[in-house]
Amino acid sequence: MIEKITSSSQAISLENKYGAHNYHPLEAVLQRAEGPFMWDVEGKRYFDFLSAYSAVNQGHCHPKIVGAMIEQAQKLTLTSRAFYNDCLGVFEKYVAEYFGYDKVLPMNSGAEADETALKLCRKWAYMKKGLPENQAKIIVCDGNFHGRTITIISMSTDPESYGGFGPFTPGFIKIPYNDIPALEKALEDTNVAGFIVEPIQGEAGVFVPDDGYLRQAASLCKAKNVLFIADEVQTGIGRTGKLLACDHEEVRPDILVLGKALSGGTMPVSAVLANDDIMLCIKPGEHGSTFGGNPVACRVAIAALEVIKEENLTEKAEYLGNIFREEMRSFQSEMIERVRGKGLLNAIIIRPKNGKEAWDVCVKMKELGVLAKPTHQHIIRFAPPLVISESQLREAIALIKEAIRSFE
Ligand code: PLP
Repeated sequence: MIEKITSSSQAISLENKYGAHNYHPLEAVLQRAEGPFMWDVEGKRYFDFLSAYSAVNQGHCHPKIVGAMIEQAQKLTLTSRAFYNDCLGVFEKYVAEYFGYDKVLPMNSGAEADETALKLCRKWAYMKKGLPENQAKIIVCDGNFHGRTITIISMSTDPESYGGFGPFTPGFIKIPYNDIPALEKALEDTNVAGFIVEPIQGEAGVFVPDDGYLRQAASLCKAKNVLFIADEVQTGIGRTGKLLACDHEEVRPDILVLGKALSGGTMPVSAVLANDDIMLCIKPGEHGSTFGGNPVACRVAIAALEVIKEENLTEKAEYLGNIFREEMRSFQSEMIERVRGKGLLNAIIIRPKNGKEAWDVCVKMKELGVLAKPTHQHIIRFAPPLVISESQLREAIALIKEAIRSFE
């Protein structure tokens, strides 16, 4: 029998009993959502300040995106790539032109897109750069988060991500983030094929590198014929106040990785973009995905990207992000150690007080009607859907302040 959920506690106990315990959620059981809001099964309304890790930039259940999804789902959902369909090429042209690349390779999750970028980089290194077989190395940054697959956790420096999951994939050089001399030194290795970097490290706690870091890193890579790979799965598509976070420094990655908001949070859609000299290194049969680039994903992604432009969400993220940081920086509280971020991807570093930590602040915010979650023990990320209005943002800021003030 399919159970009908009538209370939060019922849903939580079902998850605890029948689901793997690989997450530690805040106890809000959500039932529906619209724009910047979510409602729990008891009908309580919350401001969403996580946006499903920046997947819901366009707001929950955006009518245009959901409409595209329904319309396509009633016509054709999946053909596999064994055949052509009338959606994929349209999507590929739209996305390639939107971001200014020759070609795109669609996948589903962010991790898959990152895996794709790594494979593409290695293949390019053997075919074009002439590296000896199986010797290609890729530079990664301490504190990175690129997903959860075995190869990707092989790049991780977070014991929670990789501990107990070895043996790991070789071929990575780990260097500190935001450290140009370390990158310069790592690039001396002639077997380096690529450098993969998040323009802002989201999961690590919204670490914003120094101005000029990305530009310098990209130019050092170029000088060594090493591919600069930007993982914009979390930072891309308007979130940081530019279409891509790399745009803040006018850097154009050789390989661009997108996910999350590419579907406005409706389904997993990710993509890797590159020019022909790189993308055409992968030949038929060498890479793929049953669901990657399926007709529904294609229609949804076009609608999601159109919404970003039609509703000026990138500009909104820039404008509202400045308000958020100004408000939180001028708020006097011993618990606020630091406020940092770009656009509407921000974090507050919490200084524990009387045994109360970031988690307690999130629990209090939840009580008051704002949902956010700590990333690591002492950092809270604040990333509302970009459709939030200025007055809604100010209302939520007042609640966030009230939550922090309750521990003073
Ligand atoms: N890359 C970055 C920068 C991310 O933030 C994430 C997820 O948070 C991923 C990759 C992985 O995406 P997914 O969870 O869709 O595999």
